[in-house]
Amino acid sequence: MAKTADNVQTEESLDLLKSTQVIIREALDNLGYPDEVFQLLKEPMRVLTVRFPVRMDDGKVRMFTGYRAQHSDAVGPTKGGVRFHPDVNEKEVKALAMWMSMKSGIVDIPYGGGKGGIICDPREMSFREVEGISRGYVRAISQIVGPTKDIPAPDVFTNSQIMAWMVDEYSIISEFDSPGFITGKPIVLGGSHGRDTATARGVTICVEEAARKRGMDLQGAKVIVQGFGNAGSYLSKFMHDEGAKVVGISDAYGAIYDENGLDIDYLLEKRDSFGTVTNLFNNTISNKELFAADCDILIPAAIANQITEENAPDIKASIIVEAANGPTTLGATKILTDRDVLIVPDVLASSGGVTASYFEWVQNNMGYYWSAEEVAEKLQSNLVKAFNKVYDASEQHRVNMRLAAYMVGIRRMAEAARFRGWV
Ligand code: GLU
Repeated sequence: MAKTADNVQTEESLDLLKSTQVIIREALDNLGYPDEVFQLLKEPMRVLTVRFPVRMDDGKVRMFTGYRAQHSDAVGPTKGGVRFHPDVNEKEVKALAMWMSMKSGIVDIPYGGGKGGIICDPREMSFREVEGISRGYVRAISQIVGPTKDIPAPDVFTNSQIMAWMVDEYSIISEFDSPGFITGKPIVLGGSHGRDTATARGVTICVEEAARKRGMDLQGAKVIVQGFGNAGSYLSKFMHDEGAKVVGISDAYGAIYDENGLDIDYLLEKRDSFGTVTNLFNNTISNKELFAADCDILIPAAIANQITEENAPDIKASIIVEAANGPTTLGATKILTDRDVLIVPDVLASSGGVTASYFEWVQNNMGYYWSAEEVAEKLQSNLVKAFNKVYDASEQHRVNMRLAAYMVGIRRMAEAARFRGWV
């Protein structure tokens, strides 16, 4: 039987959930927790599937399917983004919710993990249709979300405009102004300074710390960034500003590479809102070739399962910092760590976004807003602390950074569940 895009994605997603469970089990074992804690945390406690109608521009009504997964509220309300993507499915959303728990635990903010997704392709829809989907989804999930229950945010192919429609819809339903319902909002609607660049900032801080540990000078270091969306584009700019040489970038359609360094300002100016830019070049290479190209630092900033056992042996970088969620399979992690490549895992490297979201939510709750400098300082100190906590745990327990990150990330949730008397 020919593999359709759908069943390929389902197999991959099964792996994402399974591999998450493998690491969670190992992390809990290493911390000395009994099996019942694993049974509690191995899957989200709640997953809601919704179907809702949207009237499209051609006048016809189309049904859309969406999900919202909540891993555990042992620590506090659940938190995590909503993605709009044709490959969204329940298993992937579950794994993504669990990763959000790890991120919050690692940066020490009082949330459990949540995640949402809608099966759709916003690249093929009008502004008005995307608004209809955003509002329809909020109406459908409104009973299980809220400023003290579960707080959504942007993710793949969603942005501050979509957050604005969602918060507006939620405020209408709840009959009061509820800026703390969602983060990643435009500043005028209660958004925080620094939220749009926070994921990229966090990744940049992790690159700096990793380079320091490895004695690598970032000046002139060759960097490849796979993906040119919100995280990939900003972080290419930050790397460039630090004096690193961004030699390769890619989008969903192809990649470009120049060993002398790419013109990042030009690429930023030309990219569209979905991060597409390689269509302007005719000397593109494939993503596979990009992974095998010469570089010191590789930053996967696109989607899951990109670095596999198949292409890991070709990778030249000595540091990999995962800006995307789940870009490296467990098999590839082993191949690369055996070769002494330092992998800064997704749950640490991409935690800048949710950290700034937490700052946004805190400001919304108290109705008092911080300056850009204040947010930047807090983000910097939070992320440096998180990096070193994970790095030290990996040294102390003699495990790779991924397992160390899960050990740091899951501990507080397990403790909280124990205090509540759940396990
Ligand atoms: N979607 C982002 C993530 O995967 C941010 C989530 C948030 O800000 O709550 O980390």
